[in-house]
Amino acid sequence: MTQQFDAIVIGAGLGGLSGATMLARNGLKVLLLERHNVPGGYATSFVRGRYEFEVALHELSNIGPKDLRGGLYRYLEYLGVAAKVDFLIAPHLYRSVFPGLDVTLPVGREAFEAKLCEVFPHESKGIHRFLERVFGLGRDFARIVKERGVGNRMSMPFRFPDFFRYVPTIWGQVLNRDVKDPLARAVISQYWGYVGLPPSKISFLYLATTLAAYVRRGPGFPIGRSQALSNAFISTFEELGGEVRMNCGARKIITEGERVCGVITDEEEEIRADWIVSNADPVTTCRDLIGLDRVAPRFFTKLQSSEVAASTVNVYMGVDRSPEDLGLTEHEVFINADHDFDRHYEGTKNLDPPEAIAVTCYNAVYPDISPKGTCIVVLTALKYGEPWYEVPPERYVETKNRIGDAMITMAERVFPGLREYTEVVEVSTPLTNMRFAGTMGGSIYGFNQPPRDNMVWRMGHRGPLEGLYFVGAWTQPGGGFEPCMMSGQMAGGAILAKMKKQ
Ligand SMILES: Cc1cc2nc3c(=O)[nH]c(=O)nc-3n(C[C@H](O)[C@H](O)[C@H](O)COP(=O)(O)OP(=O)(O)OC[C@H]3O[C@@H](n4cnc5c(N)ncnc54)[C@H](O)[C@@H]3O)c2cc1C
Repeated sequence: MTQQFDAIVIGAGLGGLSGATMLARNGLKVLLLERHNVPGGYATSFVRGRYEFEVALHELSNIGPKDLRGGLYRYLEYLGVAAKVDFLIAPHLYRSVFPGLDVTLPVGREAFEAKLCEVFPHESKGIHRFLERVFGLGRDFARIVKERGVGNRMSMPFRFPDFFRYVPTIWGQVLNRDVKDPLARAVISQYWGYVGLPPSKISFLYLATTLAAYVRRGPGFPIGRSQALSNAFISTFEELGGEVRMNCGARKIITEGERVCGVITDEEEEIRADWIVSNADPVTTCRDLIGLDRVAPRFFTKLQSSEVAASTVNVYMGVDRSPEDLGLTEHEVFINADHDFDRHYEGTKNLDPPEAIAVTCYNAVYPDISPKGTCIVVLTALKYGEPWYEVPPERYVETKNRIGDAMITMAERVFPGLREYTEVVEVSTPLTNMRFAGTMGGSIYGFNQPPRDNMVWRMGHRGPLEGLYFVGAWTQPGGGFEPCMMSGQMAGGAILAKMKKQ
């Protein structure tokens, strides 16, 4: 007999997990389908030798310490997920290394600004003015999230003046007006790797809200890695009556007229539901799961006009030395060949060694993440997927090892001995990401966020057919752990509102 649910969620990435739990929390009978044998999408871990590696998460925004909980933590509390996972908060945002400059930025608005002004005293006024803009926007944005939208659009410019002013702007344009020293600009913009585009291209809204969130509440990290967070979602969802099927992909979305009404699984089982929420990327959903003959051409053309964001090359290293022995005292260190971020960004589109890497040592925040006397170090470089399609299979291993090796050499300039004491090493590429999460180009942030595709103007959650919704990095508010979880809340909220109307 064909099974019937209120909603089927396709994919247990963070967007899917959040959307499924939000709907179950509000009384819907929900089925969650995931093609893999573990939940989480990129929010997962893997084991090599005696090390369990975090795949993705460096820093989680808007969790906050006990006395300063952020919006994400409150949402997880509402769902019942927060009670099942504990978080650590890092004392530093990042250490930024350039030729001739090595600076560590602390958490907290005042401390952050004071450190920048100490290093760049000649830019104090400009730095202050710029951070006023960043935090003004961050405040407006937090209120919009709390009030679930901008409300009356006519009065929006008065109620959210900073938000209104900066929505169409580029980070670099705003920053360059206030701060003239290129090195100071680079240190302030160091999180550009977390948003996928350099200062000259990235939406001010996206990078400013990201920076403000980390500075205010500090970078969070779940005890048990992001897999613990994904598992906490699953157990909460099941307690709320949800049904999970792992190793079970959705092969087709069934339609009737202008509506979706169910899915066919990889095992050819037909399951019916009124609402379908897809955490698979929207192009794949429209083209492969629905069929382009069923999708309005305007919707698909708009999708294709957005730019798929970068992926990563990662070097995962289990190191047989304590972090102190290697000088790894900060959890996140950005090593930059110079401060020309536009050039670094151009390098993300080829197979050359990167000009900038992040060195993440989890033990600096989470000492027990690896066996005593050892540490886990992950090197990350942004790289687009396209150039990897051209690598012939017989040259793939050599290509990824060449780039991985150059990244270790770059890290060794700051942390000598890293290579010598490495016990286990694994290199991943955009193709690894693509294969694992099934995302176009192995993108880790969905579509890029220039102003025209920023968190307000990028694709929303409603799909091209009645009853179809999207969640995850491709949708509003965008890529990253917190935004993807918020996308589940937003899509779930939209479905509940629609049900109420009906
Ligand atoms: C190396 C790396 C570092 C990162 N660092 C950070 C960081 O420090 N901070 C941060 O906030 N973000 C970070 N990110 C980004 C963040 O991980 C992603 O933006 C986010 O996890 C994407 O979530 P998603 O909801 O889009 O789902 P995805 O993770 O893309 O998962 C989609 C899921 O859907 C499943 N699926 C797809 N199609 C089907 C189908 N037909 N049937 C069934 N299941 C299907 C897939 O198997 C997958 O499990 C990083 C990512 C990477 C890779």
